[in-house]
Amino acid sequence: MYRTHTCGELRLEHVNQHVTLSGWVQKIRNLGAMTFIDLRDRYGITQLVVEESASKDIKDRIAGLGREFVIQVNGKVVERTSKNNKIPTGDIEIIIESIDVLSPSEVPPFTIEDNSDGGDEIRMKYRYLDLRRQVVRKNLELRHRMAHLIRNYLDNLRFMEVETPVLIKSTPEGARDFVVPSRMNQGQFYALPQSPQTFKQLLMVAGFDRYYQIVKCFRDEDLRADRQPEFTQIDCEMSFVERDDVLDIFEGLIRHLFKEIRGIDIPALQRMTWHDAMEYYGCDKPDLRFDMKFVDLTAQAKHRDFAVFNASEYVGAICATGCASYTRKQLDELTDFVKRPQVGAKGLVYVKYNEDGTLKSSVDKFYNEDDLKRWAESCQAKPGDLILILCGPKNKTLPQLCELRLEMGNRLGLRDKDVFKPLWVVDFPLLEWDEETQRFYAMHHPFTSPKPEDTDMMESNPGAVRANAYDMVINGVEIGGGSIRIHDSQLQQRMFKCLGFTPEQADKQFGFLLNAFKYGAPPHGGIAFGFDRLVSMFAGLDSIRDTIAFPKNNSGRDVMIDSPSEISEEQFKELGIRLQS
Ligand code: ASP
Repeated sequence: MYRTHTCGELRLEHVNQHVTLSGWVQKIRNLGAMTFIDLRDRYGITQLVVEESASKDIKDRIAGLGREFVIQVNGKVVERTSKNNKIPTGDIEIIIESIDVLSPSEVPPFTIEDNSDGGDEIRMKYRYLDLRRQVVRKNLELRHRMAHLIRNYLDNLRFMEVETPVLIKSTPEGARDFVVPSRMNQGQFYALPQSPQTFKQLLMVAGFDRYYQIVKCFRDEDLRADRQPEFTQIDCEMSFVERDDVLDIFEGLIRHLFKEIRGIDIPALQRMTWHDAMEYYGCDKPDLRFDMKFVDLTAQAKHRDFAVFNASEYVGAICATGCASYTRKQLDELTDFVKRPQVGAKGLVYVKYNEDGTLKSSVDKFYNEDDLKRWAESCQAKPGDLILILCGPKNKTLPQLCELRLEMGNRLGLRDKDVFKPLWVVDFPLLEWDEETQRFYAMHHPFTSPKPEDTDMMESNPGAVRANAYDMVINGVEIGGGSIRIHDSQLQQRMFKCLGFTPEQADKQFGFLLNAFKYGAPPHGGIAFGFDRLVSMFAGLDSIRDTIAFPKNNSGRDVMIDSPSEISEEQFKELGIRLQS
């Protein structure tokens, strides 16, 4: 028997028992008379002791040990004289009675402890060693636990997990596909799914009623900290539902997760229209951990000789509570912040509402105190507050003001990682105009249903049509999104027309779906959550990388297995691919 207990299990109640443990040597401390060893496994760390009185054999074996050796020890559990209250096994230690090396280890390339001395690159190369560290492993444990809770929740509601294929043809989610050459059909390619969208809809046509899958999806996009070329979705679809049925079930899921994992009771989720999100927060994923809503001052700000405001389509403000005491330097910093190319504003106007009730602004030349007072009233500012104003074309100024709001949220410490403010953003536009290609694209995907009251405008004013689509947003991050789908092939064809597809093109790409809809398609809708992101949010991580056992780096490489890599000429030949040189 390799072990009677794990390394995380023994407590005072086990004192005097003889036990066998197996695990990795994390640390050896030789104090002359005594030697201490920290033995680690997935479950914890247990301290082993070799006493002065130990046999020569044991002492010799200990002398040959190194970090990360896998050993097996027999010994007696005793109470420690100096306890370690930082670990659950800290009250006891094991006096070694015999020891065997099960597997030696070379000196590891970095220390395998919570605070490692290894840089990112080296830890990724030896990811299997990195995963031995508790701080990394606990994220994977959380991921496992969340997956388990999600499966149970959905199973209780009669959702059925169905696997959909990985070798498919392009799904139109708007990103680039990863493709796989087909040997048996030379010159043809599979695509890896960007999502199982069309398959889950076909499962609804098949009468499966409620489907889910925790599923890998693939998108060949440029990578950012929170993106991976392969990522996992909680993908769901339901039949005979309207929007609110879907929202109720999935906000239930999220609230359940918060309760079970973080012990937090989340109240019913606010539902905000996309229009309001843009108007008051300047983006479709508002961070509601703090208020600081935009105030439209356009009508109020244009009656004087200030050419900058007068020439602006939009003048918008936020009110930063208690910031009237900002110094020149702090205001300059904010001005520099909004002028950075990433934000792109031309300048920043401020109004200080001083504690003594006076008002002082950067546009005092043009506006008198009464003008400023009116702005302050519109912004519901109080003495001590600072009003920050940006102006310009509306579609540019709103996102700039959004950046400024988030920056102020950071500065004021209003974006606490342990506070969670989820909401639904609903009624997205159905279509998005692309200047470059001069055509409309589906904002969500081409199977998203327009709101019934807007379908009349699909031909006459497509840009104004709202979609029956929704996103779940938590703390400024889009966690999930979905829609009620089109289940009528006529309407689906009109949608393809809006997107500039000829009937032939539509048939070639999606004939299978259009056909399926001819055989009795139930009204249906669904949603998909980004599982990696959800886990990283619950774990309080900035990146999704550490929620994934074997992630890729920022250039899409797996540096451990060294992939992607070249393939042999033989393989090219088999695939019928000729490389041009
Ligand atoms: N397939 C969509 C996505 O991946 C989600 C959905 O509409 O269910 O974003």
